This record gives sequence, structure tokens and C-alpha cells, in this order.
Amino acid sequence: MGLEQAIPVDGYMTTQLSRVINWARRSSVWPMPFATACCGIELMATASSRYDLARFGAEVFRFSPRQADLLIVAGRVTTKMMPVLQRIYLQMTEPKWVVSMGACASTGGIFDTYAVVQGIDQFLPVDVYVPGCPPRPEMLIEGVMAIQQIIDQDNIPYDGDGVRQPLRLDIVTPSSPSVDLTISGS
Ligand code: SF4
Repeated sequence: MGLEQAIPVDGYMTTQLSRVINWARRSSVWPMPFATACCGIELMATASSRYDLARFGAEVFRFSPRQADLLIVAGRVTTKMMPVLQRIYLQMTEPKWVVSMGACASTGGIFDTYAVVQGIDQFLPVDVYVPGCPPRPEMLIEGVMAIQQIIDQDNIPYDGDGVRQPLRLDIVTPSSPSVDLTISGS
């Protein structure tokens, strides 16, 4: 978004401003749903009144990638769909995040065929893997909260060339008090 470039480097004001920016970002994550199968039903349930994703400021689902910063891939992705998904990701605003929801998105699930992508992380930088078939809404909420914690900590990894690296966090259980935010990959 260019905010980081617009503010002066280091100093008290910069630190405070970064905190405000991070607070605003984590409180207003706008998801872009890419739901292709049954996991999409759980995604819809997460946004509905019972689980109420709005409590975390992330209920404004956008179907326009330029207005979204959190891509949630829910369901299997075929090789034919993958270029479309990649284009959607590229059109999203920076900084942006990717959640792989469910076994199919993360590994192909039971669809071990040539037509189904065996893990979207072969083509997209996945930040959070939410396991399950399907994952419950609580699990997806854990995934969103993990991303919010990373935003809060200003902990976005870049490589030496300034290229954004995926976080690759695994959500373990819906009842875990806090998610292990150790970045497991480069
Ligand atoms: S992980 Fe299970 S629930 Fe989700 S899309 Fe695949 S088969 Fe459906």
C-alpha cells in the first residue's frame, strides 16, 4: 500500500505509527473466498451468525481481489483452475495473506488424480494451513487469528531480495490457547 515507504525510518513516532497501521490492518482483514467444494460450506458457516467472523473484523468478504487482502482457498483446485487462482492472488492488495483451508486445498485430499492440484502451495505462498475434512469454523477462525497475530507483531518475512516469503503455519487444534507462530519455512 506504500504506507511504509511514506513514513520516516526509525524513531518513536514511526514505531507508534506502525502499531496503529498494524492494528488497523489486523482489525479489518478483508477475505477473498475461493471456495470450490464442501469446505466452502464451513467457510460460509464461519461468516454466519453462529460463529460470527465479524467478531474478528474479517467478515467483509470481497469477490473483487483488488479489495481483498486475505485469500481463503477452500476446497480442491484443479490444474485448469490454478491459473485463475494465481491471477486472483496477483491482483490482491499488499500486504496479503493466504489460508489453505482443508485437506483438498493443502494436499489434494482424497483426489489423488492428475487433474487436481496436490497442494496449492506448489503455486501460491501459503501462510496458514487449516487441516481437516472439512475443518470446523473454529479451526478457520484460529487460522485468521494466527494471521492477525503476525500482522500485530509486524512479522512479515522477506528474503534478501525483498520478496515476500510464505509463513507456513499449521493450525493444530481448535482449542489450543495460542498458535505456534514459529515460521517453519523460508
Ligand atoms: S477437504 Fe473434505 S470437506 Fe474440504 S473440499 Fe476436500 S473433501 Fe470437501
